[in-house]
Amino acid sequence: MFEIVLGTNNRKKGLELSELLEPHEIAVKTLADFSEKLTVQEDGETFIDNARKKAREQAIFLNRWVIGEDSGLCVDALDGAPGVFSARFAADGVSHNVSANSSDADNNRFLLERLADIPLEKRTAHYVCTAAVADPTGEIRCESKGLCRGRILFEPSGTGGFGYDPLFEVIEYHSTFGALTPAVKRAISHRARAMRSLIPLLLEVLLNRAFR
Ligand code: IMP
Repeated sequence: MFEIVLGTNNRKKGLELSELLEPHEIAVKTLADFSEKLTVQEDGETFIDNARKKAREQAIFLNRWVIGEDSGLCVDALDGAPGVFSARFAADGVSHNVSANSSDADNNRFLLERLADIPLEKRTAHYVCTAAVADPTGEIRCESKGLCRGRILFEPSGTGGFGYDPLFEVIEYHSTFGALTPAVKRAISHRARAMRSLIPLLLEVLLNRAFR
C-alpha cells in the first residue's frame, strides 16, 4: 500500500484523512509515527507558504511523500486577521516569536476584545485550510484549499472542537463549531474541504508517476 505522511503530530487529523484515502489504497501516517522528525518554523506570510514549507522540509528529512497543511481564521472586520497568526494571536501583541503560541482561551478573549464595537452583521469570518503535497525530493506536486464561512459571536457557545470554535458560528446551522457534533464539523470544515479536493489531484500525480 502506498504511504503518505500528514505533516502533523495530531493523530486525529491523520485518522480523518485515513478514512478518505483508504478506499484509494493509500495509508496515512502522521509525524507521531516517527521518532525523528523536523519542527518546521511556520514563518510564512501566507497559509500556502506555510503548507508548502511544512511539506517540502519534512519530505526531504523523512525521504517520504508528505502532505503539509496550514489553517487559521480570517475575520473580515480585522482585514483578515488573525490569519497565519491564528495560533498566536493573543501572544503576538507581546512577542513576534513564531514559536510563542497563546492558549485558545487567551486568543478567544483577545478576538472578542478586538471586535467589541463591531455589530453582528459585520462580524463575518472564514476558516481556511491549505494543503500541499511534496514528493521525497521536496518538490511540490499538488495543492488545495478549503474554506468554511461563518461569523464571530459575542460570547462562546459549545465545548467541542478547539481554537476559535466556540465563537465561530456557521450561519446556516445556527450553531458554532463548538456546538456542532464532530461528525458535522468533519463534513463541512475547511480542513475536510481542503482534503477532499486534494484527493483527485493526489491520485492523478500518483497515477502519472506509476506510468512514468
Ligand atoms: P493548524 O494549522 O491546525 O495548526 O491551526 C492553526 C490555528 O488556527 C489553530 O491554533 C487555531 O487557532 C486556528 N484553527 C485552525 N483550524 C481550526 C478549527 O478547525 N477550529 C478552530 N480553530 C482553528
